[in-house]
Amino acid sequence: MQVAVLKETVPGERRVAVVPAGVGALVKLGLDVAVESAAGAAAGFGDDDYRSAGAAIVSREQALAADCVLAVRACGAAGDRWTADCDRLRPHAAVVALCDPLSSPEVCRAAADRGLTLYALELVPRTTRAQSMDVLSSQANIAGYRAVIVAAAALPRILPMMTTAAGTLTPAKVLVLGAGVAGLQAIATAKRLGAQVSGYDVRPAVKEQVQSLGAKFVELPLETGGSEAAGGYAKAMGEEFYARQRELLGRVVADSDVVICTALIPGQKAPVLVTADMVARMRPGSVVVDLAAERGGNCEGSRPDETVVVGGVTILGPTNLPAEAAFHTSQLYSRNVVTFLAHLVKAGFPDVAADDEIGRETLVARGGRLVHPKVRERAGLPPLESIPS
Ligand code: NAD
Repeated sequence: MQVAVLKETVPGERRVAVVPAGVGALVKLGLDVAVESAAGAAAGFGDDDYRSAGAAIVSREQALAADCVLAVRACGAAGDRWTADCDRLRPHAAVVALCDPLSSPEVCRAAADRGLTLYALELVPRTTRAQSMDVLSSQANIAGYRAVIVAAAALPRILPMMTTAAGTLTPAKVLVLGAGVAGLQAIATAKRLGAQVSGYDVRPAVKEQVQSLGAKFVELPLETGGSEAAGGYAKAMGEEFYARQRELLGRVVADSDVVICTALIPGQKAPVLVTADMVARMRPGSVVVDLAAERGGNCEGSRPDETVVVGGVTILGPTNLPAEAAFHTSQLYSRNVVTFLAHLVKAGFPDVAADDEIGRETLVARGGRLVHPKVRERAGLPPLESIPS
C-alpha cells in the first residue's frame, strides 16, 4: 500500500504531517512511502532528508493518487483548496488528517460521497492508551508556549522582575483563562520567563495543576459542580453562569498586563470570558491573546488572525500558533500520525476491525457514507445501524 505525505496548501500552514524521522517507521510497517516535493520545506525538512530516509519524492498529482494520504489539514480543516484535491483523490483512498468534522460535517459528507475513507485526528480519544496519537494535545501544548512569546513581544514591558543600576522593574502580571493543555503550558512558560502568573479554569480539578506550576489559582465563588464532562473536558454552562463569571473575573482581568484566553468547549462556540467593558478597564499597553478567536473568541473584539487595538489594549487572535513553531510541531504531529497508522495497520487497515476503539472513534467516512454518529447528527442524518466496510 502506498501512503503519501501531502504538502499543505492553507496559507500560513508551515507544518508537515510526517518528518523524515517518521518515514523509516512507516516503511517498517510495510508501507511504500511517497512525499510530495517540498512538503517539509516550510518546516525545515528538505526533499533530500526524506529521500535518505527511504521515501520517494513525487508530484502533487502522484501524491493524490496514493492509497492513503497523510496531511495536517484535509476536508473542513483545509479551506478552499480541498474541493479540488478531493476530486483528484482516488475513490476508496484513505485520508488521515485534521478534518474539522464537527464544524464541517457537510464537507465530510461530500468526501464520503466521493467514496473516501476519512480518519479525523481531532477525534482520537483522550485516553491514556491513545495519548501518543493525540494531536490536539501535542499541538495545543506548543500553542500555549507560543501564546506567551507572542504576548511578550507585543507588551511594552518585560515579563520578569529586574533589578538594575537604573532601577528595579516589577514583573508583569499574566492571567491565563482556561487551564487545559494549552493553558497549563502558557502558565509554565510565563513562569519560566519570570512573570507573576495566575490561572483560572471552570473545572475545579485544575486548581492543583495550576498551583503545582507555581502559579496562583484564581478562585471565584461560583457553583462549578458538574462543569466537567467525560474525558476531562469542560461542559457548556448556562448564560447566567457565564454572566456571573465575567462579573467576578472583571477585577482580575483589569489588574493583568497579559491575559491569555484558551477556554474551549468541544464542538461548540467558545464562551465569552472577557467583555469589551473588561478590556476598557485594562491598563493601556496591556495585551490579550485569544487562542479561542477561531471558535468565536473568549474575548469580545478579538478577530481571527488580526491585531485589534482598543483603548491602548492590544488584542491578538492567532488561529495557528503551532504553525509558527513548525519544525517542532511537525515532529510531534508526525510521531502522533505514525503511531496512529501503526495502530490502524495492526487493527487490519484499511479494513480496521469494528471493535477497535481508536479506529472507530476517528473514522468519519467509509464505503460512501458518513459513519461517525456525532458527525452524522451534525449533518442532520439519522444514526446508522452498521458501519459499511
Ligand atoms: P479544551 O481545549 O477543550 O479547553 C481548554 C480549557 O478551557 C479546559 O481546561 C476547560 O476546562 C476550560 N474552560 C472551558 N470553559 C471555561 C470557562 N467558562 N472558564 C474557564 N475555563 C473554561 O481542553 P483541552 O486542553 O484539550 O483538555 C482539557 C482536559 O482534557 C485536560 O486538562 C485533561 O484533563 C483532559 N485530557 C486528557 C488527555 C488524556 O487522558 N490523554 C489528553 C488531553 C486532555
